[in-house]
Amino acid sequence: MDCIFCKIANKEIVANIVFEDEDFVVFKDINPVAEVHLLIIPKMHIGSLMEIDMLDASKIKNMFGIINKMADDFGISSKGFRVVTNIGESACQSVKHLHFHIIGGRKFGWPPG
Ligand code: 5GP
Ligand code: ZN
Repeated sequence: MDCIFCKIANKEIVANIVFEDEDFVVFKDINPVAEVHLLIIPKMHIGSLMEIDMLDASKIKNMFGIINKMADDFGISSKGFRVVTNIGESACQSVKHLHFHIIGGRKFGWPPG
């Protein structure tokens, strides 16, 4: 499958990986929108959050644990940060492999654009 995030998970293309376990990879976004901008992906190809049933509950729990750990490790948990997943065209999902943006280090506005 021609999926850029599968290629990152498989080390076929280089990314700045900051965390990895048997199920997930966290790497720096190539085009950061804040001082800290990480992406967490499952190693398994999952098209979007709409296919979350492909991950069992314990793995989903682990994923959110990793997100919180990353926020702590990158120093953004105390002031606040944002976790975002875009789903489909209207939400501007550009890579069709489930990923959560972990973004912090600046003040955000609401509602998002
Ligand atoms: P989306 O728009 O699908 O929610 O987010 C995709 C994100 O992946 C974007 O923020 C984009 O900058 C990032 N991205 C796309 N291709 C690459 C890549 O090859 N390497 C890295 N590190 N990030 C990428
Ligand atoms: Zn993929």
